[in-house]
Amino acid sequence: MLGRILIVEDEEAIAAFVQTALERDGFTVKWIGNGADALEAVDSFQPDLLILDLTLPGLDGLQICQAVRQREVYLPIIMLTARAEDTDKIVGLEVGADDYVTKPFNARELVARVRAILRLARRSTGRRSSNRLSFGQLEIDLDGRQVFRAGRAVDLAPKEFDLLVTLARAPGRVFGRDTLLELVWGYNFGGDSRTVDVHVQRLRRKLEENPHEPRYLLTVHSIGYKFAANQGE
Ligand code: CA
Repeated sequence: MLGRILIVEDEEAIAAFVQTALERDGFTVKWIGNGADALEAVDSFQPDLLILDLTLPGLDGLQICQAVRQREVYLPIIMLTARAEDTDKIVGLEVGADDYVTKPFNARELVARVRAILRLARRSTGRRSSNRLSFGQLEIDLDGRQVFRAGRAVDLAPKEFDLLVTLARAPGRVFGRDTLLELVWGYNFGGDSRTVDVHVQRLRRKLEENPHEPRYLLTVHSIGYKFAANQGE
C-alpha cells in the first residue's frame, strides 16, 4: 500500500483535483471540507500524510498544524496556500509544516512532493530500532537519554538532548527557532530564540567532527535548523 492521505480543503474543486491525482497514483485518500473536523479525521482515518489548506472554516490550517505537532506521533504535513508571500510560507514552516505548495499548483508537482516526503518519513522510521535512532556514527538512545558518537558516550545537558531528539526524529524537516523554543523549552519559557542558537552551537561542538561544517545539525537560513536527511550515506 502506497499510503493514506487526508486532505483538509474547503474548496471542493481543488480537493477533487488533488484527490483524483493521488488516487490515480494509488494512494488511499479521504477529503474533509471543514477545519473543525480535521483532528477527529486524523484520529479516525490515521493518515500517513496530511494535506492542509491554510484558510479554512472552523480551525484554520495553522491551528491544525500546531495541534498535530503537539502530539506524540509525527505526521508529515503539506500546506496549501493561496497567498504567494514569503511570510506566509515561512509561517507555515514555523508551525511545523514539512512543505508548502502555492495555489495554483500542478497536480503532478504535488504528488511528487507527497512521495518525496513519505519516502523521507519512512526512511527515518525504518532506521529506528527499538528506542534508538542511529545516523552513521551517531546513535541516540531515547530510553536511556544517552548519545554515542562512534561508540563513545557523549555528555549532553538535558535541553541539549531534548533539542537533538526533536530535530533527529524528523530528518529533513525544517524547524523555526520559535517552534524549537516551544517544543523544547515550553510555551512559558521566558528566553528568546538566541537560546536555541546557543544550544545548537554546543551540540555541534560535542557531536560534529567539524562544528563549522556540520553534517548533522544544519542551519536553514533565516528560519532555523534541520537535522540532515542524508548524513552518513
Ligand atoms: Ca480555503
